[in-house]
Amino acid sequence: MLTLESTVKWIKSLQQVYAEHKDYLTQLDSDIGDADHGINMDRGFTMVSKELDNQPPKSIYTALMTTSRTLIKTIGGASGPLYGTFFLELAKALKGIDEATLPEVADAFKAGVDGVIKRGKASLGDKTMLDVLLPAVETMQKNSQEEGVTNSEVMREVVAVAEKGVENTIEMVAKKGRASYLGERSRGHQDPGATSSYYMLKAALGNW
Ligand code: ADP
Ligand code: MG
Repeated sequence: MLTLESTVKWIKSLQQVYAEHKDYLTQLDSDIGDADHGINMDRGFTMVSKELDNQPPKSIYTALMTTSRTLIKTIGGASGPLYGTFFLELAKALKGIDEATLPEVADAFKAGVDGVIKRGKASLGDKTMLDVLLPAVETMQKNSQEEGVTNSEVMREVVAVAEKGVENTIEMVAKKGRASYLGERSRGHQDPGATSSYYMLKAALGNW
């Protein structure tokens, strides 16, 4: 279900997704951060898209490695290394695979999320991208094991869980990243990184 073609399609679609939501993500970051998250994501995925055009990847692994490398290189701030790590672990988990099934993709995503946890040391409830990624990926793992469900049914549920995860961040107090400097004052605002992670998963639904 995940092939080289669908991987590249998904990643390239993120350029458009983040261009479209650039101002919104930056607005969210201006409330509890330094007003650059939309700019960061847009710059990162614009470069990723260019790199994939310049050097068309020959495998899922190289497509994801190029994505990881480019994000780390072009996005400053916390989210660059974190998204870079996510795609690095995703790449490593799918190395040597030409057509990944949804349970394989789910396990690879879990490896990506574990990489983010290891790198950023955040936990569930800290008001970060993990509040979307962790429950969404656990749903992907669990539901893709069930018999008689289609991949798009699984992914629709994953996106619904991700959307709920974004909402949940509003009432949380930030414990990691810049927003944590605000303490209690971070409550009542939606986390920008959780929101960009939701867009990443939603784009997968349309392109895999
Ligand atoms: P910066 O905070 O350096 O300006 P961005 O604005 O691009 O970087 O990204 C901010 C987002 O990064 C936050 O909304 C949050 O979701 C995420 N984030 C920050 N620190 C961590 C962390 N330690 N673990 C996971 N996610 C984090
Ligand atoms: Mg920021």
